[in-house]
Amino acid sequence: MTERVCENCGGADDDELVPVRRVYLRDDSPDGEWVDEVGGEVELWCVSCTSQYPHRPVDPDRDDLDGREELDGPS
Ligand SMILES: [Zn+2]
Repeated sequence: MTERVCENCGGADDDELVPVRRVYLRDDSPDGEWVDEVGGEVELWCVSCTSQYPHRPVDPDRDDLDGREELDGPS
């Protein structure tokens, strides 16, 4: 039996875990704007984390999915 835990917060979650690619935000660009760097590994996140942290949704049918609309810099 495999315990399903969120790979972001590490908490066991009874809700659905969704596959995402983590997005790292940096503010070191010359323009001072937030730039995103998409992590290469797919992680399973709980719904709570996907609502709080920047990520790119993983769609197994579309490797080229552009999830930029999901991005949201820290406020
Ligand atoms: Zn989580």
